[in-house]
Amino acid sequence: VSGEPPEPLRRVNGNNYDADNANSDRINATILSLVRNSELDDLLQSMRDLERTWNHKFNYPWTFFNDVPFTEEFKQKTRAATKAEVRYELVPADHWKIPDWINMDLYHESVALLTDDDHRVQYMEKTSYHQMCRWNSGMFSQHPALADYQYYWRVEPNVHFFCDVDYDVFRWMQDHNKTYGFNINIYDSPESVETLWPETLRFMQDHPEYIHKNNAREWLQDNERRPDKHRIANGYSTCHFWSNFEIGDLGFWRSKKYRDYFDHLDRAGGFFYERWGDAPVHSVALGLFEDKSKIHWFRDIGYQHIPFFNCPNSPKCSGCTAGMFTDGEKWLNREDCRPLWFKYVGMD
Ligand code: GDP
Ligand code: MN
Repeated sequence: VSGEPPEPLRRVNGNNYDADNANSDRINATILSLVRNSELDDLLQSMRDLERTWNHKFNYPWTFFNDVPFTEEFKQKTRAATKAEVRYELVPADHWKIPDWINMDLYHESVALLTDDDHRVQYMEKTSYHQMCRWNSGMFSQHPALADYQYYWRVEPNVHFFCDVDYDVFRWMQDHNKTYGFNINIYDSPESVETLWPETLRFMQDHPEYIHKNNAREWLQDNERRPDKHRIANGYSTCHFWSNFEIGDLGFWRSKKYRDYFDHLDRAGGFFYERWGDAPVHSVALGLFEDKSKIHWFRDIGYQHIPFFNCPNSPKCSGCTAGMFTDGEKWLNREDCRPLWFKYVGMD
């Protein structure tokens, strides 16, 4: 796999991307991260890597979100890690709280069931994890601080970037009419999304008009035989874009079709009664409601979120082993489902 970016744009000359240039060549875009104060050091690691490999050339602003106020230490140290503008935003309480239609008795019973020996759904017992998944699925794009932005790049604490990227990735998205960029594609635990596909089918029956004619439905429904662990979840392959890395157009998440879909899922309750992740929710929506040719694999952005890598074979990369998918146990290699994406959609 080549590490060359497709048609790189080289507009780094002159002062076009100076941090304090109000007339810079930057487009309406921000790097963003939902993060806790306690994750400051891990976040600084991510910032250092992304600034070194890319953002020191382009100076896109960073926007940080938190359900509680950021500490002065957090603000001071993150500001010192970039020349770019940095913003600190509180998640509104009504974007974070468990919706009042959720039956808390049923929620607690569901937690007990899905954490037993037969299910073992990761993070099922952490209420804040459910809240985080719901926020990333449907609430982040509604935050007033993002109202003026069109594109975002999602970053998490303790991720790594390995390759020099010399073009304005956001402008590339715009110039190539892309909605969504991903990096890693993996299977999910079927127990965490058992009713996601049945709910989605119900929604599709009510809204056939939302389904894009050039969709990636076959990717979502692939049912080739796989090891038990990768059991198909009531019709859903569980293959998803790993959403700790996302470069996307906020317009998609704000569109009526996505708002209606998210509201349907939110009412169904699976963010709490199960443990629907924002990754499968985003992936199912993109796979059905968007033109699959508008989804791009950023093969040239070397990346790691433990335990998985995207590591291109390119002289621009260092610190990871070309082609390696995981440095964890061998069986983890089976989690990679990018081949499914390539099978149904190709490599654009
Ligand atoms: P994992 O990658 O699935 O293991 O989940 P993480 O623990 O990395 O959480 C995903 C993202 O949400 C990270 O950017 C976290 O910093 C953030 N996050 C998770 N829970 C909370 C929370 O309760 N409050 C805040 N502010 N951020 C959270
Ligand atoms: Mn993470």
